[in-house]
Amino acid sequence: MDIDKLTYGPVPSRRLGRSLGINNIPAKVCSYACIYCQLGNTLKMSIERKSFYNPEDIYLSAKKRISSLKEKNEKIDYVAFVPDGESTLDINLAKEANLLKEFNIKLAIITNGSLMYREDVQNDLMQFEWISLKVDSAVKSVWKKIDRPHGKLNFEDIKKGYIDFSKKYKGLLNTETMLVKNINDDEESLKKTAEFIKTLNPNKAYISIPIRPPAENNIQIPDDEDINRAYLIFNSYGLNTELLVQYEGNNFTYTNDFEKDLLAITSVHPIREDALEKFLQKSNASWKDVENLIKKQLIKKTFYNKHYYFSRILKKSNS
Ligand code: SF4
Repeated sequence: MDIDKLTYGPVPSRRLGRSLGINNIPAKVCSYACIYCQLGNTLKMSIERKSFYNPEDIYLSAKKRISSLKEKNEKIDYVAFVPDGESTLDINLAKEANLLKEFNIKLAIITNGSLMYREDVQNDLMQFEWISLKVDSAVKSVWKKIDRPHGKLNFEDIKKGYIDFSKKYKGLLNTETMLVKNINDDEESLKKTAEFIKTLNPNKAYISIPIRPPAENNIQIPDDEDINRAYLIFNSYGLNTELLVQYEGNNFTYTNDFEKDLLAITSVHPIREDALEKFLQKSNASWKDVENLIKKQLIKKTFYNKHYYFSRILKKSNS
């Protein structure tokens, strides 16, 4: 097992500063197939929690990366579970979180929330200081359209799970709503979504837009006017709303192996051409090395929203 692929970064994050990523789920195992997913199409739809990796391996991978970053005086704001699929499908989540606490760096997790109806998932999430829960819409038909959930998921049970969890969780609970033009940006749906989010009393209600290449080609970023309207609607429900509409910056960290670093980052985080240029300079690599990875079909180049992006070509694992 190549433990290096279990962690990546740190990568610049709009919400978490510089976060060291934990990739605890194999290539796109997810309970959703969101139309805007930056990882591409879901390779394995699942709602079954299981063990994917040995928690010790995740711990050792993080330890190795953190030591090498410390030597370079690189700052890490969070250790964040932001994997190749849905983070809570990992049955060892709490075990891994406990092991990672040794580093005294705050723990964060991004989840689509689809398993929140389960008490074990709620309990596992209590280990984290910062959580982002997906709430793309509180309207069932819109949820189905945008998140394309696993057929066995029950929307009302999930919403109840969110509410129950929000009452007992003591850390920073945040919501994220990805706005997609003509899908979930209409006034009626936004009001219902804001009303539901209000019941969770979140630290922040983030509204984001698909700034990186999405799974489906026909996805569009809403017009500025509609983004502003969404912001105003959320605010009118008393939510501490923040728009995530800016690119997060180019400060990607090089540890010591260009190819491994780039593959680990692009597997969860498509990287923009200007960011890659900087990354090449840091790591003494060249565009030829990038072309080689494209030739080997390990990464691909995509044009989206006025920029070129480089992302990992994810292949189905046996998980
Ligand atoms: S955006 Fe997240 S929840 Fe949606 S399909 Fe991609 S990995 Fe799964």
